[in-house]
Amino acid sequence: MNHNRREFLLSSAGFAVGCRLFETSVLGQQRKKTRLILLGTKGGPRVGESGRSNPATLLLIDDVPYLVDCGYGVTKQLILAGVAVQRVRYVFITHHHSDHNLELGPLVYNAWSVGLPFKIDAYGPPGLRKMAEDFFNYEEFDIKTRIVDEGRADPRKLLTSHEFDKPGVILENDQVRVTSTKVRHPPIEQAYAYRFDTPDRSIVISGDTAYSPELAQFAKGADVLVHEVMYLPAIDALVKRLPEAKRLREHLLAAHTLPADVGKVAAQAGVKTLVLSHFVPGDDASITDEQWSADVRKEFKGQIIVGRDLMEI
Ligand SMILES: [Zn+2]
Ligand SMILES: [Zn+2]
Repeated sequence: MNHNRREFLLSSAGFAVGCRLFETSVLGQQRKKTRLILLGTKGGPRVGESGRSNPATLLLIDDVPYLVDCGYGVTKQLILAGVAVQRVRYVFITHHHSDHNLELGPLVYNAWSVGLPFKIDAYGPPGLRKMAEDFFNYEEFDIKTRIVDEGRADPRKLLTSHEFDKPGVILENDQVRVTSTKVRHPPIEQAYAYRFDTPDRSIVISGDTAYSPELAQFAKGADVLVHEVMYLPAIDALVKRLPEAKRLREHLLAAHTLPADVGKVAAQAGVKTLVLSHFVPGDDASITDEQWSADVRKEFKGQIIVGRDLMEI
């Protein structure tokens, strides 16, 4: 063996040991029982090029996947986060804008296509059940063919839809208590935020909302608040370029939250960590982390994290 090659092997062995140590210390003993992973951090249905995927947020509680929202690309993002799609056990839809529910049916289909047993309970506002049924009808030919041809189970029996139209306790088991509250997202009435209380952490996910003091009440004392955010100068620049976007600006202002107001909600709630996600606009890569967070910081003195896809908090 020549000297250089031996040196290379030695140093790569050292590197491998280093990696293993890193895994043990960061992902081993110190790994939290409740893990939060942002799968998609871009607001809106447009599939963009800026690197952000459409909305989806994952909690792993004792390694059981609880998924909030199913924007386009969620299956891919789960895989990139190291979570096999058929492992998803619970899904929570915040509201029925398509950036939050587009891939609910495909997610269930993708879990089914693996061919292993799975069971998904999905929770969300009215419309959820019909949406799932409609998806199965959309793929009826394929599903029927595969049941006969490949001996697969009927996927319709593997998904259970649970609809609710009032805030309250959504799910309670020995891992977690999940509660919901209504948020302000006109014109959609049935729009919710979710709170996950586990033995080691409390995490609140805002869903889509305009400034909502009720959300601060709901998030009181949580460890982490994941809140949507909108950056107005970028919206105004868009309106300048496309005057027809004026109507869009009005909708966005009524339905989403400006950075200073996100800071207010986090401060009123007294959370330890605020995570910005669901960025509007989500595909303007020129907006810096500092621009997203500057006005938030004026109101909130805790930790502020500008979210990115696949970031774990
Ligand atoms: Zn949205
Ligand atoms: Zn929405």
